[in-house]
Amino acid sequence: MILNNSADTEYEDYQQANNPMNSEERPDKPEEACGVFGIYAPGEDVAKLAYFGLYALQHRGQESAGIATFEGEKVHLHKNMGLVSQVFNESILDKLSGNIAIGHTRYSTTGSSRKRNAQPALVETRLGKVALAHNGNLVNTMQLRSELLKDNCNLVTSTDSEMIALAIAQEIKAGAEWLESCIRAFHRCSGAFSLVIGTANGIMGARDPNGIRPLVIGTLGNNPVRYVLASETCGLDIIGAEYLRDVEPGELVWITEEGLASFHWSQQPQRKLCIFEMIYFARPDSVMHDESLYSYRMRLGRRLAEESPVDADIVFGVPDSGIPAAIGFSQSSGIPYVEGLIKNRYVGRTFIQPTQSMRETGIRMKLNPLKDVLYGKRVVIVDDSIVRGTTSRKLVKALYEAGALEVHMRISSPPVTHPCFYGIDTDSQDQLIAATKSVEDIAKQLEVDSLAYLSWQGMVEATREDPQSFCTACFTGDYPISIPEQVKRSKLMLEGATV
Ligand code: SF4
Repeated sequence: MILNNSADTEYEDYQQANNPMNSEERPDKPEEACGVFGIYAPGEDVAKLAYFGLYALQHRGQESAGIATFEGEKVHLHKNMGLVSQVFNESILDKLSGNIAIGHTRYSTTGSSRKRNAQPALVETRLGKVALAHNGNLVNTMQLRSELLKDNCNLVTSTDSEMIALAIAQEIKAGAEWLESCIRAFHRCSGAFSLVIGTANGIMGARDPNGIRPLVIGTLGNNPVRYVLASETCGLDIIGAEYLRDVEPGELVWITEEGLASFHWSQQPQRKLCIFEMIYFARPDSVMHDESLYSYRMRLGRRLAEESPVDADIVFGVPDSGIPAAIGFSQSSGIPYVEGLIKNRYVGRTFIQPTQSMRETGIRMKLNPLKDVLYGKRVVIVDDSIVRGTTSRKLVKALYEAGALEVHMRISSPPVTHPCFYGIDTDSQDQLIAATKSVEDIAKQLEVDSLAYLSWQGMVEATREDPQSFCTACFTGDYPISIPEQVKRSKLMLEGATV
C-alpha cells in the first residue's frame, strides 16, 4: 500500500511505534490489548491488592505492568516490561503506599524495549496528578494528537492512553474540575475505552458509549464498603471482592470517601460489547451476563455440534481456549471427550529463538499431541478461532504424525474476515485467512478432512442476549463506531476505504 499524504504516513509511523512485530513474528491469535484495575481502600494495602488484581488479569496483556498509588497528593509509580510477577516484588510493593491504586497490564510483543509505553500514564494537571489506565483503542488518535500538540502538550509516549490523560489535563487547565474535565475529554475521544483513573480525591471508572471493552465494579468489606474496578470479575475474585455490577456503556463512576456516584456522560449509549471477549479473550471463570464464560463457551460447542456434525471417535479442544467448546461439542454429539494435546503450562514466554529443526517440528514448544490417545482415531479438534491459519496447519500436521486417521476441525466462532480497530491486535485484512479464502479452500490449506465454523446466528443466539448489543465486526465488517479513512486504509487492504 502506498500512502502519499503526510497524515497517512504519520498514522503509519504511529501504528509502527505501537506494533513493532511483523506478521511472521505475531502469534496466530488475536491479541488482547490490556487489563485495568483500580481500588479505593483507605487502610488497606492497596498496592498488594492491585498486584493480585493484575495477576488475575495477566492473560489480557503480558508486555508490561504498572501500578500507581496515591498517598494524599503524593504519587508512587512503578512500571516496567514483563509479567506482573516479574515487574513487582515485596520491596517494590512496600514502597507503593497510599489509599488508592491504579494498575495496568499491557499486551505482549517480542520484547522490544517499550517501557515508556507502559501504563498507568501519569500526567500533571492544575488540580494535581492524574494516573490513567486504558483498555481499548481510540480511532481518532491523529486528530486528538494534533489538538494536543497545538496546545504544546508534552507527549512522552506513543499511546492513545496518554493522550486521554493529556486531554483531561487540558480541560482542567481550561478551568473545569475533575468530573467535568473527564467528561469533556471523553467527548473528544472516539473508539473503545474502558478507563480507570486515579486522582488524589478518588478513582473513576468509565466506558465509551458502546462499552466495547468490559469493566466491572466490586465491593470489598462492609464497614465501610470499599470499591474495586477491574476489567473482568476474575480480578475481583482473587482479592475476595464481590461483584456489584458492570460500569455501563457511557457511564462514569466516581469513587471517593463519600462512596460511589454515577454519571451517564453520553447522551446516546448503545451497548456493543466485543463478542470476542466472550468467545476467547476474557478468562473462562469471568462472569458476563450472570454466567461464567465457560458456560457460554460450552454452549457454543453444543451449537457447533448441532450445526456441523461429524462421525468421529474422539473430540478435544486446543488448550486452553478451545476446551469448553470441545466439551460442549462432546455433550451434544456423544463423541467421547479426551485430552489430545498437552500444553506446556509451567513456562512463561521465551525470548530465545528456537533452532531451525525445532521450528520445523512445528508447535511442540507449546502443545504436544498424546500419541497413544490419537493413534488410529478419527479426531475432532475444536478451536475458538482461526486468524492466519499458520498454527492450525502445524497442529493438524502434528496430529497426523501422532497417528490420527482423520482430522476434523471445528471452530466455535464464524470466519474472521475483518480486522479490529477497537483494541484487539488482529492482523490487517490481507493477513486474515478467511478474508481471501472460502471454507473449502481453508480446509485444503490446513489439510484437514473437514472444516466447519459456527454460524454468526449460532454465536449470538448462544449469548441469550440481544444480538444487537454486541460488536461482531471482525466477522461481518459492520463496525459500530465509524473509523476515519486513514485508519481504515491501514488495515482494510482488501476493501479500500469503503466500509
Ligand atoms: S471487531 Fe471483533 S475483536 Fe474488535 S471489538 Fe469488534 S468483535 Fe471485538
